Amino acid sequence: MFDLNNLLRENIKKLIPYSSARDEFKGEARIFLDANENSFGSPLTKWYNRYPDPLQKKLRQKLGEIKGVPRDNIFLGNGSDECIDILLRAFCEPAKDNIIICPPTYGMYEVSANINDVHVKKVPLTSSFQLDLTGIEEAVDDHTKMIFLCSPNNPTGNSLNKDDVEIILNNYFGLVVIDEAYINFSRFRSFTQELNEYPNICVLQTLSKAWGLAALRVGIAFASEAIVQIMNKIKPPYNINQASQELTLEALEEVGQVNEMIREIIKQREELIRQLSELSIVQTIHPSDANFLLVKVNDARGIYNSLLEKGIVVRDRSKVELCEGCLRITIGTPKENNDLVKELTDFARQIH
Ligand SMILES: *Cc1c(COP(=O)(O)O)cnc(C)c1O
Repeated sequence: MFDLNNLLRENIKKLIPYSSARDEFKGEARIFLDANENSFGSPLTKWYNRYPDPLQKKLRQKLGEIKGVPRDNIFLGNGSDECIDILLRAFCEPAKDNIIICPPTYGMYEVSANINDVHVKKVPLTSSFQLDLTGIEEAVDDHTKMIFLCSPNNPTGNSLNKDDVEIILNNYFGLVVIDEAYINFSRFRSFTQELNEYPNICVLQTLSKAWGLAALRVGIAFASEAIVQIMNKIKPPYNINQASQELTLEALEEVGQVNEMIREIIKQREELIRQLSELSIVQTIHPSDANFLLVKVNDARGIYNSLLEKGIVVRDRSKVELCEGCLRITIGTPKENNDLVKELTDFARQIH
């Protein structure tokens, strides 16, 4: 059975969290002399002399309304990268516990685990970039605290089979982290609507991709109230700064505009697939539920360098296992995509 208390590290169970001035005082006051802020103001016109809300209540409320998830099931991190780090620190005993990842996948799970001295067990995806369920079952041991799944997956672009993910959720009693950074570009539904079915689920999303707010650093973890409380207990007190909270709230009013951009990006993705498939240097364009394409080409390094000379930078994934010979290309604006295709066409011509 899943038992959160068994998963949690002893030191975190016992932890008395930092209590900030703004934690200890809640309510209305006229004069704030509790936090050693600068009472005279700031060089900026806004009230940036005051510490932000440590629990980001307005922002979580608004996000909850948009996502259809109660506020108490939402944790905010300084990017989802911070959520990943906090999960590792909450549940994994350094030099003792381990996690499972399924490469090729997002690099931060492994780096973050390495930083925390948490052992990483790798169960590669199958050749069709799906989960190797038998491999995962064999890899799980008594110290496996978490399995990281990424769907749609970076850098392959595909979604994981929902049935496979559900088999893991139903049979593994550690935490299943489902990274949905690219969910807005996908045909498939998010797992955020299934928090009540699975006590062991933690869904990660971010405002860095579809929402176009990478610079603000807002990542989201959706999980049980108990998990959210643990994460809030160990996060740095003011991890989402005031400017990010304000600007994000402003951006969240524009759901329509964002949905329009998402539609346009998906349209451009299909258009780019069409154009790339006509090039002789392109061998395979992997199906994508994301805002990028994984493309197998003749001479990935040569093409990468040639594009770079023209001022176009893509991601060279050609040395990554199962991505041999592949470039990862983010969908750009129509003009950017046309420039890319033009340079690739020139390159193809030169080598013939
Ligand atoms: C980009 C990306 C993230 C990082 O999101 P931030 O919120 O910007 O930290 C997380 N997971 C995956 C799979 C990504 O591709």
